[in-house]
This record gives sequence, C-alpha cells and structure tokens, in this order.
Amino acid sequence: MACTDHSKMTALPPTDFNATLSARDLAAIWHPCTQMRDHAAADGAGVPMIPIVRGEGAWLIDANGKRYLDAISSWWTNLFGHANPRIAAAVKDQLGHLEHVIFAGFTHEPAIQLAEELLRIAPPGLARVFYADNGSSAVEVALKMSFHYWRNLGSPGKTRFIALTGSYHGETLGALSVTDVPLYRATYAPLLLDPIFIAAPDCYERESGESWQTHSLRKLADMRAALERHAANVCAVIVEPLVQCAGGMRMYHPAYLTGLRALCDEFGVHLIADEIAVGFGRTGTLFACEQAAITPDFLCLSKGLTGGFMPLSAVLTTTSVYDVFYAEYTSGKAFLHSHSYTGNPLACRAALATLAIFRDEPVLERNRVLATRLAERLAPLADHPNVAEVRQTGMIAAVELVRDKFPRAEFPAAERRGLRVYRHGLDHGVLLRPLGNVVYFMPPYVITPEEIERMVDVAMAGIESAVA
Ligand SMILES: *Cc1c(COP(=O)(O)O)cnc(C)c1O
Repeated sequence: MACTDHSKMTALPPTDFNATLSARDLAAIWHPCTQMRDHAAADGAGVPMIPIVRGEGAWLIDANGKRYLDAISSWWTNLFGHANPRIAAAVKDQLGHLEHVIFAGFTHEPAIQLAEELLRIAPPGLARVFYADNGSSAVEVALKMSFHYWRNLGSPGKTRFIALTGSYHGETLGALSVTDVPLYRATYAPLLLDPIFIAAPDCYERESGESWQTHSLRKLADMRAALERHAANVCAVIVEPLVQCAGGMRMYHPAYLTGLRALCDEFGVHLIADEIAVGFGRTGTLFACEQAAITPDFLCLSKGLTGGFMPLSAVLTTTSVYDVFYAEYTSGKAFLHSHSYTGNPLACRAALATLAIFRDEPVLERNRVLATRLAERLAPLADHPNVAEVRQTGMIAAVELVRDKFPRAEFPAAERRGLRVYRHGLDHGVLLRPLGNVVYFMPPYVITPEEIERMVDVAMAGIESAVA
C-alpha cells in the first residue's frame, strides 16, 4: 500500500527551510552593514543569508538545523550564551508585570536596582546613571552632556572633541563624527562635526622591539600637544579603553589611559570612556578602565550590558557633572535628551540577571583559563607568512593578515580576503566575521575549551584558503 511505502517518502528532497526564509527576507528587508547585492549572487561569489531559528549556549542553529559556533558573540553582545535560561526567566517574569513605562516623571524598580548595581561595580566616583537604548545613543548622550556641562559653566568656547585615529563610537551622526573608520565615515563626512583626531596608541604600529607600554606612553606626547593647542575649545577626549574594536581590534597598554586621565585633568577637559564593546569582562577585568586604575567622567555601556538579550545602554557620570545641570528650571540648564524606550524594564531585568551571573559565578577567573587556551591555540599562527601579528587582550584575540610580512604589505581591501574566511567559517559551522583583513575572536564566555579548539582550527583552515 502506498501509504506505508516509506522508501518513497524518504526519497523526497528535504525541504530547504533556509532558502524559503532567505528568499522572503531578501524580498522585504534591508540589512545593516551590508551591500545587499552580495546576497543576490547565488553563484560562488554570493554570500548566503542565514535564517537562525534557535540559539543554545555558544551556538546558533539555522532553519535547516545546521549549527554555527558564534565566535563573535553576535556583534559582541552575547556574554552567557544564547537563550540563557537565567536571563530568559528574568525577562519572562518582567513581561507579566510591566513591559514599559514612560521614564520621565515615572520610574520602576528594575531601573533603580540596575543603576544601584552599576554604580556599585563601576570605577569609583561614578554616581549617576543616564539610560538610553543603544550604544550610539549612549555616545550621543555623553558628547551632548559634556558639551552642555561646559556651556552651563559659562565656557561656550568648548565645542570640539578629541578622538583617536582608528576609533569607532557608533554610526549616528554625532557618534560617527568621532569615529575614524573610513568605511563608515568617509561618505558622510560633509554632515559631521569636526573633531581633532590624534594618533592612537595602537601597538600594531610600535617599533620592532618596542614594548606595548613604551609605545603607548610615547603616544601620549601627541595628546599633550593637541591639548596644549586646543584645550580651550575642547569639551572631551573620547576613547575606547584598551581595544579599538571595530577599527580592527587594535590594542594598547593601560598606561596610556592612566596618562590620558592625568592630561585631561591637567588641561580641564572631560574623559569619555566608551566601554560599549570592551565592558563586562572582555578585556579580563570587569571594566577596561580598571586596568589603568582610572575613573572617566563619562562611562558608556551597552552590548554585553543585557547579556545580549535586549537593546539598552547607560552613561555613568560623576556628581560634579550632575550638579552643573541641577538648577532652577528657568535657568535652562536641564539635560533634555530623551528616547522613547529609555530604561525599558524588560531590558533592565535582562541586565540585572546578567550582573547576577557575574556576582554568583567566578566569570572572570573562568575567562582567564579560556583566554589562556585561546592564546595557546593561536600561538602557532604568529609564524605564518601571511600573519603580521597575533594579539590578545583578555577574551578578545585578533590575527592580522598581510600579503607580505617583511616589510609589511597589506592585502588590497578589494580582494576581500576576510570575506573568504567568513565563508569558509560558515561552511564549517563557525561564525567568524573578519574586520577587513583582521580575523578576530570574541566568543561568549560559555564557550568550552573544546569549542575554542574547533573555532581556531576552522579559522586557521579559513586563513589558509583565504591567503592562497
Ligand atoms: C558597537 C559600538 C558602539 C555603537 O553601539 P550600537 O549599539 O551598535 O549603536 C559604540 N562604541 C563602540 C566602542 C562599539 O563597539
């Protein structure tokens, strides 16, 4: 009987759920950071659009059931695994009480408790939390607050910002203004503020034989010169502490931050620490600023803040900044910036659950073991003829691919070598997403030593095929 003829049933081609969802996606959606035409080519040059239906620990699972190890924490947001049960339970619980409420004139305990927690764990001296809902907005808040602070104090000449070369602070116009990644900035340059860019302490550029510390400290001379010249017109210096992430995972020594803090004090400008990417343990300490024993005037947090569950950001600042805005309403000194979803309760609960994991588990100690394993596995790559440098700070590691090692010569960007690594990774079940010719690893903290081995093995093979 036909109905029991299983051989016929199994002979049917399996349904390609990925293809179905991908086609619907590409007919309706415009994706971020994407030349959409890359997805159109079905031939060898094309890039697949991958529909993810489920996440589990460090893994993403597509509609056809294929698994990908998330080596980049889904754009650096995820800390404790996809669908982490503890964070999910907190959000679910909050859903039954309050999904959202206007955050002007009204408040709620998750936001209050989160502010208290953040101030408890942040570098000493930070005393106020201003919420926003994504990283770029947090940077906008910090820039506007700093500018407004000086205005309220009667220094309207302070209108500019100092940023580092190779910096990335987001892509809204203010945040993009202090970003120095040409890929994102060049097109929009006519629309942007005019910051002063100072050579970053980026240790990839150090002299041969020079230590990270010596190189980073040497670069403070450029900052001092800029401040000597421009301090009267500068509101703040904004930096990504220790690792300039989107600029290619370029790294520097904490001594630079210690020196920068002193310079900012000496010249009367604010220091904005954008820890949106590096915060919450990525560099080995809970906040990167800890390694320099400094407190910035503004600390921007997002991404890992909610464990990768919900959009949320926060700007932490000092009482001395806060007090300059605290006045009679009619003085016009209030900071009137607002976003509709400021302090969203669901996001705050996700953040509280994330911080509870840091409190209850030896996360940073476990990460030290994982980081060591990662370093050991990557070490052999340093001798590869197409690898200029393998570098690492805590749970962030990067491999800089070059056409020639001595003297260094870059692969032309148009060759898109990194994209070959990306495609190789997908074929072999690892989500790598090189920044140009920089292959990097920034996995969730729940990755196991075995998964680290697999991640690096796939990356190594991908690098081999990409440089061939
Ligand atoms: C990602 C990032 C931002 C921007 O955050 P979004 O939430 O993507 O707007 C800002 N600064 C740094 C250092 C980042 O890595």
